[in-house]
Amino acid sequence: MHDFQYKQGTFHCGEVPLEEIAKEVGTPFYCYSLPTLERHIRAFEDPLQDVDHQTCFAMKANSCLAILNTMARQGLGADVVSGGELYRALHAGIPAHKIVYSGVGKTTDEIDRAIRAGIMMFNIESEQELEVINARAGQLGKKAPISIRVNPDVDPHTHPYISTGMRDNKFGIDIEGSMAQYVKAREMENIEIVGIDCHIGSQLTDVTPFIDAVERLKVLIANLGKLGIEFRYLDLGGGLGITYSNEEPPNPKDYCTAILEAVGPLGLKLIFEPGRVIVGNAGILVTRVLYRKETKTKTFIIVDAGMNDLIRPALYGAYHEITPVEEHNGGTEKADVVGPICESSDFLAKERDLPRFVRGDLIAVMSAGAYGHTMASNYNSRPKPPEVLVDRTRFYVVSKRQSYEDLMSGEIVPDTIR
Ligand SMILES: *Cc1c(COP(=O)(O)O)cnc(C)c1O
Repeated sequence: MHDFQYKQGTFHCGEVPLEEIAKEVGTPFYCYSLPTLERHIRAFEDPLQDVDHQTCFAMKANSCLAILNTMARQGLGADVVSGGELYRALHAGIPAHKIVYSGVGKTTDEIDRAIRAGIMMFNIESEQELEVINARAGQLGKKAPISIRVNPDVDPHTHPYISTGMRDNKFGIDIEGSMAQYVKAREMENIEIVGIDCHIGSQLTDVTPFIDAVERLKVLIANLGKLGIEFRYLDLGGGLGITYSNEEPPNPKDYCTAILEAVGPLGLKLIFEPGRVIVGNAGILVTRVLYRKETKTKTFIIVDAGMNDLIRPALYGAYHEITPVEEHNGGTEKADVVGPICESSDFLAKERDLPRFVRGDLIAVMSAGAYGHTMASNYNSRPKPPEVLVDRTRFYVVSKRQSYEDLMSGEIVPDTIR
């Protein structure tokens, strides 16, 4: 199915053996497949081809410039959540009018930059944010386009850390409160109401919560209509899940079909903000075994990638499939795959049945294209790993491994220090 396959017993991305990339860039490294990425984009876009819509890739999932540029070339926009992401998106060639800006903590500087750039809309997450955006737009002599992010209070049945549309989450404004905020926004001089928005969580494996959210939004849209409040965009957020191990999420076609049916003939342009479903299975992390360590009770496979490179297992207990780069035909053993970081949460896999790995083996950590490199940090003063993009027979190092100098850039020791 995907572009990561064994050929003559060695794991490849497209036509390129991962071993060859490891020789060139060292380990660990992220590896993305361009054909897979393009296929995922088409899988999402094809069912929507006759629908007035704009897909805005949620770039917190993967903000590599080469990936963003691919999105731009395929006509996608971006969902940004910071000034840094806005800067990157524009730099990668995504036009401002295809950018939506979400997030509960937009600063004045970030708001000003987005207004000046001329983005499609701000997704408003609180009453105060609405007031600040109105004031800043006034200062800049512009009208700020907004939608209100509605928290529809539906349970997405996902990990609590990535569920965002329940009453107790910090995101959005509840349905009743949203009515009041729209009425308020209508009176504001420098605000233009252009849409309504919701995003209920990530890694959803069932369409029902999406449909429940749409139903609740439709009631709200009808009630707003009675007050004469109308708009152009219905933003349905992202959140469609992928298969990490044995999850069976709806495919993009079934998701889109179900959503379109639930939305019905509203006459609004639909905005989608998928992240994980586009990039998650288009990327892997490749790491090398440093040591085997056998204790009385356990076997540890110690690798050169840590939680600073891929934090999802430590953060969410997330599962990533572990695949040997050279096909093993020996037996298996139960082992933990752990990194070099000084934390017990620094693991990539726990209690897995794995081939008997030895020092020097290469391992592919699957499904690492989303929330992988973007969540990488310099913890333990470890340089962030490089990102490699493979296009069939060729590979490109699209972001370099950080150097030790990079780690200290911008730091000074005051010379009057004592
Ligand atoms: C994270 C996020 C997304 C993308 O979520 P995925 O699960 O990666 O599709 C979309 N919209 C908003 C507002 C987000 O915060």
